[in-house]
Amino acid sequence: MSTVHPRHCPAFVQSSTHEALCNALQDSLRACSRYLGAARALEDSLPVIAHAFRFTAAQEKEHAAILQGLIVVHGGEVVPPCPEDAALPAEPLVLLHDALCAEEDRWSARLPSCICAARTESYSRIVHACMRIAETEQAHARRFSRYLEALRSGRLFRAETRVSWFCLSCRQLHTGCEPPDACPGCSGHRGYFIRTTGFPFSPEG
Ligand SMILES: [Zn+2]
Repeated sequence: MSTVHPRHCPAFVQSSTHEALCNALQDSLRACSRYLGAARALEDSLPVIAHAFRFTAAQEKEHAAILQGLIVVHGGEVVPPCPEDAALPAEPLVLLHDALCAEEDRWSARLPSCICAARTESYSRIVHACMRIAETEQAHARRFSRYLEALRSGRLFRAETRVSWFCLSCRQLHTGCEPPDACPGCSGHRGYFIRTTGFPFSPEG
């Protein structure tokens, strides 16, 4: 099966929509790279948060593919990926706070400016795609905010009442106000445990 490449379109390449879309694409590529870096930094100490970063990185990669597809189909060019960030701080509160700020900026400012330009220049498909992406970025902000608050307040591994926890490494279940110090299934430390409710890796959370 052959792939048909749309023709280069100077009018689109020179549009405000194209510029904003390229910025949004770079934002997603950078986020993906940073979240994977954060996941690596926290892999051993806080696997549960590393997991959240890795999960979100996969969604950013998907956003980047959608945005790149929109650019190409309208006659723009392929945007090269941004270079990898240098080593990130291994401080989870800093990593979560930086990620939260970036997500807030994207759903509340960067993507709306892209949507506004596309609406003004009548690229309706781009308007709709960017609106959907902005909704997901808002969910990312909620996810990082929830982890940040839980970690700050010491509630990441402590509940008010007995709840269900499961080990991200071996799926061992545990009921209690706190997860066990060591997983009975795989001997992993408590940083592998996540509540079965309240911290889902879903669009809501
Ligand atoms: Zn386990």
